[in-house]
Amino acid sequence: MVFSLCELISKAEIDRAIGRLAAEIRRDVGDKNPVFVCILKGSFVFAADLIRATGIPAQVQFVCLSSYGCGMETSGRVKMRLGLREPVAGKHVVVLEDIVDTGATVHHLLKYLARRKPADLKLCVLLDKPSRRRLPVKIDYTGFQVPDRFVVGYGIDWNEDFRYLPDIRYVETETEDG
Ligand code: 5GP
Ligand code: MG
Repeated sequence: MVFSLCELISKAEIDRAIGRLAAEIRRDVGDKNPVFVCILKGSFVFAADLIRATGIPAQVQFVCLSSYGCGMETSGRVKMRLGLREPVAGKHVVVLEDIVDTGATVHHLLKYLARRKPADLKLCVLLDKPSRRRLPVKIDYTGFQVPDRFVVGYGIDWNEDFRYLPDIRYVETETEDG
């Protein structure tokens, strides 16, 4: 397969969005000592930049969910591969996710977290692909709305590659005969 990577969102645009999201989160939970729940692996770069940009006292936890096998299409079945390590009861929880696509992943995680009785549960998403939604998801903080393209970079992979890219690019595939 022949493919190329085309820039969708530049590093400067990402930086501006991080500043805006951090300000919104600081306004809402800056004095609440929130718990950021980062969804591995795709959100780790986003979470690292955003959490530092908020500059507020907070805890960080990691969960790992997967719905993708190899390739570019979600399987739709969500598996929790790593759960919470500390209780979140009574805490202000902010979930950090790279992309909401069909909504299956965050739908599953928000139900899992709600059962643990946090004081408040908010969702912060770098990229929202609304055209692909199959389950309703309420997003509290959105970086960008993006078209139905397979994207990589800024922590987001394609078969574990391209996480190192500083910006967000979409994959353009071409057939060999053009
Ligand atoms: P959902 O469960 O909402 O269908 O999918 C969410 C997860 O699928 C995201 O956390 C992300 O890991 C993955 N995903 C969705 N769209 C893309 C994409 O364009 N590129 C990559 N690499 N992963 C995606
Ligand atoms: Mg993800």
